[in-house]
Amino acid sequence: MNTTKKIELKGLPLDELRIFLGEIGEQKFRGEQVFNWIHNHLIDDFDLMLNLPKDLRQKLKNLSTLESLQRKTVQQSMSTGTIKYLNSTKDGKHIESVLIPDNNRNTLCISTQVGCPLDCKFCATGLMGYKRNLSSAEIVDQYLISAKETGKDKITNIVYMGMGEPLLNFENTIKSLRVFIDEKNTGLSHNRITISTAGIAPKIIELADTGLRVKLALSLHSCFEDVRTRIMPINKKYSFKQNIEAVKYYAKQTKTRITFEYTMLNGINDRNEDINALIKLCKQIPSKINVIPFNSIKHMDPGGVSAELDPTPMPRIYEFVEKLRSNKITVMIRDTQGDDIAAACGQLAVKY
Ligand code: SAH
Repeated sequence: MNTTKKIELKGLPLDELRIFLGEIGEQKFRGEQVFNWIHNHLIDDFDLMLNLPKDLRQKLKNLSTLESLQRKTVQQSMSTGTIKYLNSTKDGKHIESVLIPDNNRNTLCISTQVGCPLDCKFCATGLMGYKRNLSSAEIVDQYLISAKETGKDKITNIVYMGMGEPLLNFENTIKSLRVFIDEKNTGLSHNRITISTAGIAPKIIELADTGLRVKLALSLHSCFEDVRTRIMPINKKYSFKQNIEAVKYYAKQTKTRITFEYTMLNGINDRNEDINALIKLCKQIPSKINVIPFNSIKHMDPGGVSAELDPTPMPRIYEFVEKLRSNKITVMIRDTQGDDIAAACGQLAVKY
């Protein structure tokens, strides 16, 4: 049988797994057993699913697969302990995930696409172009492979902030979320998972309406349409204004606080008028700001606008943050994690 046609079981939410088992003539409770083996026992060999009859194991081997990604390399940052993983897909593509330790929290940052179509000027992934969407199994497997290595309890949070734009791979992103937040999947829940988007306004609304109630981060980077368009071309299609309306709706529907990600670019979005605009914005929406020092993408040898971007000096970042805080806005400064292994925000890109 052609292996590419086999159903990738790791990407099926529990209800779909039950349906699949029903369709192949089995009782639906088998779906729950398989889900438990895959997601709680982290088993990726049908022969180890001991409570399944032998003929069912054989049937599953014939019709489905537990192989989605393969681990290629693991690199650990000497300075922060951040770990960067390189995984390959069955069709020979490469994607990266990153595990970020932070006190008693360990956050796994996962990818949703091979490359990215958005072309944000500050991001290395954008520079490598777009290859394809990941399947839900490929999204989930980034977690499963790492959890198997570290132990499941060692990964406390998941952020969709790796390569790609999750809301442009909407269906598979939602499927993967439904796998992760199923109450039968131990250790994970909606409030430990964050989706980060460059701002695909209609999909933000759709995500709110799924009822999944995961946390949402909007890559804001500027409150001014012209500046935002210059550094994030997607702003031409879905404007700042549309996205702000969408996240307001999201916050209201899900009763969650929005995170605004804000990468500090010297002279571009770190001016006093940017502070005032942020204050005005944050007063309208339950939110916090995540300030990110700009991580160099010089290793990609970029041209155009990208070549002109410089990080805001740290003293100015502190001043910027203090002014926001003195206006009662919650602001975090994100550490530059794993810069030495090009694993920090916006540095993920695989060169072929
Ligand atoms: N496509 C999604 C998720 C990927 S990026 C999104 O746009 O949100 C995760 C975060 O890192 C985003 O906020 C992104 O804007 C930011 N980022 C990208 N490149 C960066 C860089 N070179 N330095 C700092 N932050 C960067």
